[in-house]
Amino acid sequence: VPAAPAAAVVVLVTGASRGIGAATALRLARDGHDVAVHYHEDADRAERVAREIRTMGQDVLTLQADLGRRASGPELVEAVVEQWGQLDALVNNAGRYERTGFDALSEDAWQRTLDVNVAGPAWLTQAAAPALRKAKGAVVFVSSVVARRGSTHGADYAAAKAGLLGLSRSLALELAPDVRVNAVLPGFIDTDILAGDSRGRRRSREREVPLGRVGRADEVAAAIAFLCGPHASYITGSTLAVDGGLWG
Ligand code: NAD
Repeated sequence: VPAAPAAAVVVLVTGASRGIGAATALRLARDGHDVAVHYHEDADRAERVAREIRTMGQDVLTLQADLGRRASGPELVEAVVEQWGQLDALVNNAGRYERTGFDALSEDAWQRTLDVNVAGPAWLTQAAAPALRKAKGAVVFVSSVVARRGSTHGADYAAAKAGLLGLSRSLALELAPDVRVNAVLPGFIDTDILAGDSRGRRRSREREVPLGRVGRADEVAAAIAFLCGPHASYITGSTLAVDGGLWG
């Protein structure tokens, strides 16, 4: 079975200059799709991802935006539709995490986390909905195991990631039957988000995971690509944990 359907499929991946987003953009390109690589600050890294996608023979567009601004959603969708005339799948991957105990949590940090991690994906998906409906497309939200487990130093982050699950489930109902909407829940994945870990903290994470190690970005990308693609044609409103057994 071919990985991609015969028609060209266009996917927008947010936060695609690094980590899980970059791995997802590369995986989707390898599967034969054209990819819009959104980035926030690092144009050089986004361009590196774009170059790799071009060498696979796929079309690519890099797009800068702060997803904490509501206007970014319509701007991104407009740029994609102008380039390709369609948008078939949207991967809401971008997110911010700042390790903070609850007592020290400021109003600004709370607002910023909710803006970027849950409001941004909502406004972007709202802007993309007409094109996605037309394409009979798919949306994937990148939530987190902390949506279920909670987080000892990231109550704002866990609240936002739990909010994404309510959003995902609601949009699965509201955009049906045209658009499938699902969420992935990564566990501990080896990206910049874990870069601040001490060696001890890393070892304790590894001990906590039933599979005995942290995950790789490409392992999450594989789940996202599955949910975007034709093999998930009867899957909507569901959550897929990619967490080594941390919380199924
Ligand atoms: P990462 O820090 O490398 O990636 C985060 C991405 O979000 C970056 O590309 C960044 O530019 C983008 N971003 C941050 N603020 C933004 C803003 N204001 N506007 C637009 N983009 C912004 O880490 P990652 O692990 O690759 O994270 C990807 C997603 O996976 C995030 O949503 C994260 O919460 C989620 N996640 C990660 C883990 C993990 O252990 N790594 C676990 C669970 C969930």
